[in-house]
Amino acid sequence: MLAKGQILTVVDPYGEQVADLVAFSKADTREVISSGRSLDYASKLFLTTGDPIYSNRSNILLRIVEDTVGRHDFLLTPCSKDTFRIIYGDTDPHLGCFGNLEKALQPFKIEADEIPVAFNCFMNVSIDATSGHLRVEPPQSKAGDFIKFRAETDLIVGLTACSAPQSNNFSFKPIDFEIG
Ligand SMILES: [Zn+2]
Repeated sequence: MLAKGQILTVVDPYGEQVADLVAFSKADTREVISSGRSLDYASKLFLTTGDPIYSNRSNILLRIVEDTVGRHDFLLTPCSKDTFRIIYGDTDPHLGCFGNLEKALQPFKIEADEIPVAFNCFMNVSIDATSGHLRVEPPQSKAGDFIKFRAETDLIVGLTACSAPQSNNFSFKPIDFEIG
């Protein structure tokens, strides 16, 4: 839960870790962060300090107020059992960010189908401008780097430490957060 005006700081304590963030309006959880609207209105792929994160109803839910890295992803869906099955060929895949978010959001009556594309803090996706081909590269974050978001309305927020090998350069580390 993040009240309007509160600041959420997401910290990468050891570097090269990714944290998937989703946020829902507390007043009506059908209102949720929207990758498509946010990137469209910003006319760019990489959001950073000063940029708003819009909802599916074009309201600003969060604003990035400080960012020591400047490279995050807002295109790719949270990793899931299906990600590990389809991309990595795992026969017994783990839950991933999606499964963890699903469990964490259950008490708020938010179902799996309502989980949007996450704002993937520190995730470094390179894009070939001609072909559009995507590559997940190691994050640019170093130990202690952080990104701060201000809640522009009362929110329910889900946050994970990502367990997809590509997105954290094959080392699985924690993510810290503070609310102030
Ligand atoms: Zn993940």
